[in-house]
Amino acid sequence: MNFDDTPQEAAFRKEARSWISANAPRQYEEELKKASLGRTQLKGANILEVAKAWQKKKADGGWACLHWPKEYGGRGASAIERVIWQQEEGAFGKLSAMFIIGHGMCGPTMMAYAREDHKRRYLPPLASGENIWCQLFSEPAGGSDVAGLRTRAEKRGDDWIINGQKIWTSGAHYSDYGILLTRTDPAVAKHKGLTMFFLDMKSKGVEVKPIKQANGQSEFNEVYFTDVKIPDSQRLGAVNDGWNVALTTLMNERMSIGAGVATGFPEIFDFCSNLMLDEGPAIEDRSVRSKLANWAVKASGLKYTSFRTISALSRGERPGPENSIGKLVAGSMIQEVAMYALDLQGAAGALSGEQAELAGKFQAMLLRSPGTRVEGGTDEIMRNIIAERVLGLPGDIRVDKDVPFNQIPTKGRA
Ligand SMILES: Cc1cc2nc3c(=O)[nH]c(=O)nc-3n(C[C@H](O)[C@H](O)[C@H](O)COP(=O)(O)OP(=O)(O)OC[C@H]3O[C@@H](n4cnc5c(N)ncnc54)[C@H](O)[C@@H]3O)c2cc1C
Repeated sequence: MNFDDTPQEAAFRKEARSWISANAPRQYEEELKKASLGRTQLKGANILEVAKAWQKKKADGGWACLHWPKEYGGRGASAIERVIWQQEEGAFGKLSAMFIIGHGMCGPTMMAYAREDHKRRYLPPLASGENIWCQLFSEPAGGSDVAGLRTRAEKRGDDWIINGQKIWTSGAHYSDYGILLTRTDPAVAKHKGLTMFFLDMKSKGVEVKPIKQANGQSEFNEVYFTDVKIPDSQRLGAVNDGWNVALTTLMNERMSIGAGVATGFPEIFDFCSNLMLDEGPAIEDRSVRSKLANWAVKASGLKYTSFRTISALSRGERPGPENSIGKLVAGSMIQEVAMYALDLQGAAGALSGEQAELAGKFQAMLLRSPGTRVEGGTDEIMRNIIAERVLGLPGDIRVDKDVPFNQIPTKGRA
């Protein structure tokens, strides 16, 4: 297989590289390079403001949401050009974290289902980062099984009245808009009575409560809805066809592949290369070398698996379930890497200076890693996808699939 750029791709890469070199916020480059999973802050600067400024600059230069049509704030570029951009953007791409849900999931859902005037009004400020969007799907009773959600939408005149609760909504506390999946008919099977809307997060009756995480940050929230009014014109798709709309959103989540998955390997290799153990440099220790060799093999496997996706995109095809493999393997590897780094610190004794900074990075990585294994589908759900769609094994048993939602026995319902 040839992984080299075609002449056209090489020309695009050159143009992207020179624009980034002339425009990127270089003053944050070193800090962003060091920032690992779990660290989304900058010393002495508000990362949200820095990220919004970079996104706006990209939009003004025609480099935001590359694969979106121009009339909606994009560049009309190909999927492979988007991957090339991500490769070239490098550490500055970490500033896109707060836009990923809006650009990768909400935007494409709006493009597929919103009215034309709404697309022209809402998509360009989403592309330029002036507006941030969130995804209001998961609930206490509907995570992996999102079709089990209970937030109700009831039609009153030209409006819908929303009551219920969402949870784990990333970025809801700084989001301007959100896409919301609700139950509109509880008397039919759970997948058949759902309807999707988009809403202004400042609407009356929306209450956002940030959740304090183990790492001290608050990246996601509980969101409560009390008699929130949404005009019918903000419905996405047909009434009770929300499951199909949600599948569009979730499929785009899989398509919004980055230039590669984070594994923690470069960080642990760097750490071991600089760490002194009692017996000498960590990198010369046989057990350390053996661990690093195993992780190097895994990281390479993941890199080439992600190349399969990139090759599919390059041929204009939809990627398959390779991203589920990447997420499953990388999620647990990050956790192992971070735990090993903390073990090594114990062996090395007290750390100071540069090494202390690196150590803090692994603590942040470790505390964030369980979230990585849960968000966008847990390890078990990834295994189900791989079993069913890659290995062709029989499907998971779904006993409540055809039962009317209001007749599914639950503890909470009398
Ligand atoms: C960091 C983070 C960010 C998130 N951001 C968002 C967001 O922005 N918007 C949003 O809507 N949601 C968001 N979520 C929620 C996320 O989608 C859910 O947490 C996830 O889908 C799992 O659902 P749950 O937490 O309800 O766990 P459950 O579905 O209750 O799962 C509990 C356990 O049961 C296992 N399990 C469940 N079903 C099966 C099965 N069929 N086979 C085998 N095992 C199974 C799971 O693997 C897990 O171990 C986020 C979550 C995290 C951690």
